[in-house]
Amino acid sequence: MKLIQTVPEMQAEADRRRAEGRRLALVPTMGALHEGHLALVREAHRHADHVTVSIFVNPTQFAPGEDYEQYPRTLAADLEQLERLGFVDVVFAPSPAAMYPGGPARHRTWVTVEGLDEHLCGRFRPGHFRGVTTVVSKLFLACRPHVAVFGRKDAQQFLILRRMVRDLNFGIELIGVPTVREPDGLALSSRNVYLSPSERAQAVVLSRAVSEARRLAETGEQRTEALVEAMRRALAQAPDARVQYAEVVDTETLQPVEKLEPGREALAAVAVFFGQTRLIDNAFFRIPSDVREG
Ligand code: AMP
Repeated sequence: MKLIQTVPEMQAEADRRRAEGRRLALVPTMGALHEGHLALVREAHRHADHVTVSIFVNPTQFAPGEDYEQYPRTLAADLEQLERLGFVDVVFAPSPAAMYPGGPARHRTWVTVEGLDEHLCGRFRPGHFRGVTTVVSKLFLACRPHVAVFGRKDAQQFLILRRMVRDLNFGIELIGVPTVREPDGLALSSRNVYLSPSERAQAVVLSRAVSEARRLAETGEQRTEALVEAMRRALAQAPDARVQYAEVVDTETLQPVEKLEPGREALAAVAVFFGQTRLIDNAFFRIPSDVREG
């Protein structure tokens, strides 16, 4: 496993492997790796014969006042975990200066996907998705993958990136891996370490809320209002939860829908604060296509 920290070296490595005829996969992460990330890396290995994992805490996707400085950074432990998998070829871990020479404030070129960030997280995290689409574009151009793997836990991110890849003809296959969870349903997240034992116990309400929405939809409930109410009821079971949003949106437009259309994919998503810690969860679903209109 090779550690690469500059963009030109990464590009040269990718070009060499491409010239050998290898199929390259990239798994972008911000480090503090857990089993959720490792599931992505294993999926990458199934689709390619050269796997790069990037580790970069991207300053441009954190809004002012968010946890950029405090975000957990555990490079040595991350490298150990990846080495232990036995099949990761490259870890690309650039410094902020390697990705943003002159600093992020001097950066002038941005990639934005319009209209898909008006709801869900985008509504509350100004500039977040512009930072994500820009850094992922830069990682694609540095690592030159044929396939890139993302988690569906960050559903809006995945759907925005899918649109970006299509709109800009990146020619990269995007794979979305289902959320990896603790036994009680809590989605694994690098931010779970911030939770107190009591908050951790209460955090199970997120997965309960979105599974309940999915269950209702899959048993034929078409009114999203009913799904949102059910999610809010489930979240209210946690006394310390402050709900930021609970929404049901179409997965193409990321706009709320009033009534679910049979066969069309939708997403139920929630964001909840416990103290300063912000957690998200979601469920993708389709209502059965044999449900009658009306
Ligand atoms: P992050 O390091 O939080 O930016 O996440 C890097 C990638 O891992 C993103 O594509 C996330 O969606 C994915 N990811 C994070 N947590 C999970 C999880 N519990 N299950 C599946 N994928 C995850």
